[in-house]
Amino acid sequence: MHFYILTLFPEMIEQIFHTSITGRAVQKGLLTMEAVNIRDYTADRHKKVDDYPYGGGAGMVMQAQPVYDAWKAVTDRLGPECHPRTVYLTPQAKVFTQNMAKEFAKEQHLIFLCGHYEGIDERVLEETVTDYVSIGDYVLTGGELPAMVMADAIARMVPGVLSNEQSGSLESLEGNLLEYPQYSRPEEWNGKKVPSVLLSGDHARVDAWRREQSVLRTINRRPDLLETAELADWEREKYL
Ligand code: SAM
Repeated sequence: MHFYILTLFPEMIEQIFHTSITGRAVQKGLLTMEAVNIRDYTADRHKKVDDYPYGGGAGMVMQAQPVYDAWKAVTDRLGPECHPRTVYLTPQAKVFTQNMAKEFAKEQHLIFLCGHYEGIDERVLEETVTDYVSIGDYVLTGGELPAMVMADAIARMVPGVLSNEQSGSLESLEGNLLEYPQYSRPEEWNGKKVPSVLLSGDHARVDAWRREQSVLRTINRRPDLLETAELADWEREKYL
């Protein structure tokens, strides 16, 4: 999977992806991450990339030309047969989910377009963007953190990025349920004991306990997920 991040602030991108699990995946050649500096593509001799909004109002708008040329440089390099999806990070869109991460992970190339200031000239968005995605109902100063949030979640879904052990474990939001609580050594900490069932060695009991915790946690913390959660009829009767 190859990520291309079109941004005015490439230095925000480069560090994050080269540590821990994604860093190892980059080393193994499973992922690449390229930050493309939109400013390098401006035709303005003062390297300007933004201007005042037509119609007035506060702030600046990123201009179409440098954004388009940066995008075109990437797509030209990939060749005419390749039609990569281009994601514009924006609060004006559906909120990113785990299912979307799984779907994007099927792509070979993904371009993320990061806005800044008041956003980007609408005309270049119309020309380049295939997907509009928000990471939540709040407004950030730029699209770089959202792009990294999405890239991280997508990267985890690329085969081989997680070890077998990691990818085999149930994660939050599988079947629209939250994960059960986790414990590690020592058995007692600060007067609090690990639930005894987890020390029993009885895998069936452990699984049953974890499933119940998962359902109860979802009921308490994210009741909005329950309608579409994958629950057995008996669980719906017992817990809901
Ligand atoms: N004027 C824009 C509006 O009201 O929709 C907000 C612009 S915001 C200050 C600057 C940039 O940050 C946006 O162009 C977008 O790329 C990014 N951004 C801000 N909040 C975001 C969110 N919740 N999800 C994804 N991107 C976001």
